[in-house]
Amino acid sequence: MASKSKFQAIRGTRDLLPPETALWNRVEETARSVFGTFGFGEIRPPILEPTELFARAVGGDTDIVSKEMYTFEDRDESSTSLRPEATASVCRAYIEHGMQQLPLPVKLYYMGPMFRRERPQKGRYRQFYQIGAEVLGGSDAPAIDAEVVEMVMAFFDRLQLPGVQLEINSIGHSADNCRRGYVAQLKSALEKVKDKLGADSQRRIETNPLRVLDSKLEHEQPIIENLPRIADHLCDDCKAHYAAVKHQLEMRGVLYRENWRLVRGLDYYMRTTFEITAAGLGSQNAVCGGGRYDGLVELLGGPPTKGIGFAIGEDRLILSLQEAGKVPLTTGRDVYIAWMGEHAHATAIRASKSLRAAGVSVELPPVEQKFSKALERASKLNSRYALILGDNEVAEGSWTLKTLADGSQQKFTEPELLDFLKPSL
Ligand code: AMP
Repeated sequence: MASKSKFQAIRGTRDLLPPETALWNRVEETARSVFGTFGFGEIRPPILEPTELFARAVGGDTDIVSKEMYTFEDRDESSTSLRPEATASVCRAYIEHGMQQLPLPVKLYYMGPMFRRERPQKGRYRQFYQIGAEVLGGSDAPAIDAEVVEMVMAFFDRLQLPGVQLEINSIGHSADNCRRGYVAQLKSALEKVKDKLGADSQRRIETNPLRVLDSKLEHEQPIIENLPRIADHLCDDCKAHYAAVKHQLEMRGVLYRENWRLVRGLDYYMRTTFEITAAGLGSQNAVCGGGRYDGLVELLGGPPTKGIGFAIGEDRLILSLQEAGKVPLTTGRDVYIAWMGEHAHATAIRASKSLRAAGVSVELPPVEQKFSKALERASKLNSRYALILGDNEVAEGSWTLKTLADGSQQKFTEPELLDFLKPSL
């Protein structure tokens, strides 16, 4: 079917086409509806941002910023990047619009494309889509962490996403003792086993030692099992916060598993981190990552601000739904109008207008077709009904509606037809 054309979508990018886009729309509408019930409003930040924003927020040492961003020099010589994620943009917008003056916390969600120059594979693209939310300002009450997680789980539940598993962890407080102390211990433990680690982990000892815990390399697993664990190093405040988050999740009936190796790839996270996996995705099975990032707004030049949020990988969410067979069957028309004759054309135009106004999807052929040809095309388009309008039908005011699935026919006057189609579709 697909033919080789001169131009093809850039590696790691793809066209989303009907009928699949109907599923994307359903997912996005569900997100809007569920997030709305939790009091979140939509923010649409730009896709282009100053490169420095991500260098600051995400961290210059991370793979995302050091290797994966699409960056170019704008005409005024400023360095500009396609966003690799949106939390930094939301925080920038929070500061830029003085949102700390609003009733706190400010609850925002976003959806749209992100760009990372990663190695493409199933569930990993260079242009991919995220649906995310952030809670900014106000307190860092554990109930906020729990409610954010509850909201994602409610969204997944509404979509009937298969095999949803939530893992949580606390990675301590970045500003003072516990996180810093732990990372120092982790680093020295890693130095001792450096020779046994793979090249990526060796590099990460210096750049981002927490990420070594993330490693999936088989031969590193027994080594990682013996590394110091953050839970043993949390300060009293972080310990209490983590315990309260778990309690709050239980109060909300949210099932979780603790995973001490769960760290986030981005520098700005602290305390609560979480990840959600789903079925049918192979090795790229994380559909949502999130956590608390209390220092981020301040790091970007704003006031001290609490923050927590998550990002859902929409591409993977869709893949998982498709694997589970939760796919719109087709994008068929409701009614195909098979008209023949000049009078019939005028009537067909009028009928399509009223049917469409009533929410019925109508295919109105632009030129006259023989009835047999019209019916053939109606089936090809997966139409449910064919409305047969010849000059005779128009003159008699009696219209024939054919149900394509079984070939049965019924006769209607124009108002009867509208009445019949409206409730049945
Ligand atoms: P992150 O922003 O890295 O925390 O990622 C959050 C979620 O976005 C992940 O759990 C994935 O579901 C999704 N994601 C991240 N990178 C990609 C990618 N290159 N392609 C598809 N989905 C991605």
